[in-house]
Amino acid sequence: LTDKLQNVFKNLRKKGRLTEADVKAALKEVKMALLEADVSFKVVKQFMKSVQERAVGADVMSGLNPGQMVIKIVNEELVNLMGSETAELLLKPGSEITVIMMVGLQGAGKTTTTAKLAGKLKSKGRKPLLAACDVYRPAAITQLQVNGEKQGVEVFSMGDKQNPVNIAKAAYEHAKKEKFNVLILDTAGRLHIDEDMMKELADIKEALEVDQTVLVVDAMTGQDAVNVAETFGEKVGIDGVVLTKLDGDARGGAALSIRAITGKPILFVGMGEKLSDLEQFYPDRMASRILGMGDVMSLIEKAQANLDEEKAKEMEQKFRKNSFGFDDYLESMNQMKNMGGLSSVLNMIPGMGSQIKDIDSMVDEKDMARKEAMILSMTPRERSHPEILNPSRKARIAKGAGVDMAEVNRLVKQFEQAKKMMKQMPGLMGGKGGKRGKF
Ligand code: GDP
Ligand code: MG
Repeated sequence: LTDKLQNVFKNLRKKGRLTEADVKAALKEVKMALLEADVSFKVVKQFMKSVQERAVGADVMSGLNPGQMVIKIVNEELVNLMGSETAELLLKPGSEITVIMMVGLQGAGKTTTTAKLAGKLKSKGRKPLLAACDVYRPAAITQLQVNGEKQGVEVFSMGDKQNPVNIAKAAYEHAKKEKFNVLILDTAGRLHIDEDMMKELADIKEALEVDQTVLVVDAMTGQDAVNVAETFGEKVGIDGVVLTKLDGDARGGAALSIRAITGKPILFVGMGEKLSDLEQFYPDRMASRILGMGDVMSLIEKAQANLDEEKAKEMEQKFRKNSFGFDDYLESMNQMKNMGGLSSVLNMIPGMGSQIKDIDSMVDEKDMARKEAMILSMTPRERSHPEILNPSRKARIAKGAGVDMAEVNRLVKQFEQAKKMMKQMPGLMGGKGGKRGKF
């Protein structure tokens, strides 16, 4: 998926102008990418149309090449589709009790999310009470109690002999008496959507004034998650969605479809099994994830602002010919410094995170002066052909720069590392765009 997209954009980057045919070709690949990311066909079709309308005939912004312009439009439209601003869970003010009902299929992550949410609300100064309304799954009540305890949040339970409607009502009375201001109902799910489940949820809603019905869906289930959201939306009515298990391989296309199809916002995303792993949903991050490009957009923006096109082209040639040398290294270090440190740039490229540990030292001011001294102590030939640096040459360089051998060795190692990484930077410096890691 990602490789494919990158190929398209790489090809576009090489062209001076974007014709209608170019846009069409690019969007064809984007379409495939979206479908592979589990975005529903209906949504993809509509999306293609809006992008096409915008892209063809659009002015290419100065500082961006046509290919980057297409990326920008695709990205913006994805964000638009998911709702441009982050949505919030609506809570009543002060001591009034906000009732939140968690709904969803079995295993979607309701109980876990209930506890996570309680922790979040508690840390914001709310006083949440959890109610164990799943009386079907044997371990459900204990699970909620254990998680609630970990969060320091009280769990109201009446065992598994009562029906969920009565439990919810009793929990509400308890909340009123004990001055809780949020009541979260952890309800039961079924393996599949069924009438009993829907009826039970509707009954609770009838017995109690539920302020927010929050649907929990498993992002890993892709298209199914979208169908689930649609059905729950119709039969029970939902106010918002939590998309769980986004820490896994899910590409997140469901987020796009759910918003587009139900019209309801994604409130949070589950990023792991730990109780702290509940995050606010950011449409722009999700757009990047769906495109599988990391924060390529902001990378482009940053790079564009600082890199002189000509220099980049020159550098590209050098990578091609594999003649990247120490002079170029020095120059790129200076450029990187202007971009806020190499690591801040590399951080934005998926799969690069693990490789950047020592990199910031490369652009440390003091360090750079020493490096410059070492590089200037090299002969021009050593600078352009680093492979000839043998121990005696290194010793001479060390002496010339007033540093010890170890530091020269470190410089050479960092140089090799930088060379390798710059080659992998997709498109930025005109590198070859190496294999990408997992997002
Ligand atoms: P419920 O049946 O809807 O109440 O689902 P549970 O809360 O019991 O969760 C089912 C499983 O999914 C449990 O093993 C959870 O630890 C796991 N789970 C829930 N949310 C997440 C998440 O965001 N990421 C990951 N990796 N696992 C999750
Ligand atoms: Mg549960």
